Amino acid sequence: MSLDMLCIAGFDGYFKLLNPAWEKNLGYSREELTREPYLHFVHPEDRERTTAEAAKLTTGVDTVSFENRYRCKDGSYKWLLWVSTADFQTQLLYAAARDITDRKKAEEELQQAAAELKRSNEALAQFAYVASHDLHEPLRMVASFVQLIEQRYKGKLDAQGDQFIAFASDGAKRMQALINDLLALSRLQTRANPLMPTDCAGVLRNVQADLLLAITEAKAVITHDPMPTVMADSSQLAQLFQNLIANALKFRSATPVRIHIGVKHETGNWVFSVRDNGIGIDPKFSERIFGIFQRLHARDEFQGTGIGLAVCKQIAERHGGRIWVESQPGQGSTFFFTIPDKKPAESGY
Ligand code: ADP
Repeated sequence: MSLDMLCIAGFDGYFKLLNPAWEKNLGYSREELTREPYLHFVHPEDRERTTAEAAKLTTGVDTVSFENRYRCKDGSYKWLLWVSTADFQTQLLYAAARDITDRKKAEEELQQAAAELKRSNEALAQFAYVASHDLHEPLRMVASFVQLIEQRYKGKLDAQGDQFIAFASDGAKRMQALINDLLALSRLQTRANPLMPTDCAGVLRNVQADLLLAITEAKAVITHDPMPTVMADSSQLAQLFQNLIANALKFRSATPVRIHIGVKHETGNWVFSVRDNGIGIDPKFSERIFGIFQRLHARDEFQGTGIGLAVCKQIAERHGGRIWVESQPGQGSTFFFTIPDKKPAESGY
């Protein structure tokens, strides 16, 4: 880092005394710097602020952290950070400036990168929404006509004909599932609701009602701890529970299916868990499964799109929480997620 630039300037707007760091940092001789009003060296966009800051100094308010740009001899600008004080008797300003150009540049680059990321995320979400939304309708048509052909002509064509229809119908169904899941993913951004006090017991009741068919089919017994009220977007929380419970039902092993939804309070967070006694997951995949389109099984083993847990992750993160899994193959899995325990006023909504 370069030496601080120290100076004494008059209330008249001219430098009176400068240390050698000025020459080194800006490239002018000290003679050149004292010949003109210092404002001439200040970036035109920063002149008004600089004049106001100097005026404040002459009313007795010290400068503790003021930033402006100074022109160097080569025409480039450097960002300076100032501390200064005025001496009324001598009508002089005593000041020290530090070159913070590198820090400013890094800050600007970071801001630009963040803005760029935000833009591309929004564009991506918009694209996913439009693509999945617009694909929905024509696909519904394909699916229903294939279904109609299946009903009308099954058994009337040769064996291969039946097989082709089955393939087409299966493909259309899979694509519908994929589009539905993609829509759910993009709606996380486009249809987000504010976080409100949400009764988790009520949310769980609705989710279980929606999954009744799958629960009955799996002969599953689902239990849960007493549930709290948390700050949440209730439909997103429902989707989070629904995806985890639906997975617990889907990835079951032969034993009677038992699913328990637990919750405990831990250092400012509600820690929810969805435990099953299913096939389990090799810990080496415990990060990967939360990525979009990441699946561990072939389609004929377990149906799915690989989007469910990516949705869960986004929901947990939007609520300020996180999600993870603890599991061993053949030993069942427990998915955990946290929701910060906030009062309505603290949630920022
Ligand atoms: P999908 O269920 O559509 O395959 P998910 O994103 O919901 O996609 O899950 C990703 C993968 O994580 C699944 O394919 C499965 O291999 C694994 N997985 C998720 N939940 C469980 C579970 N409860 N038990 C075992 N494996 C699971």
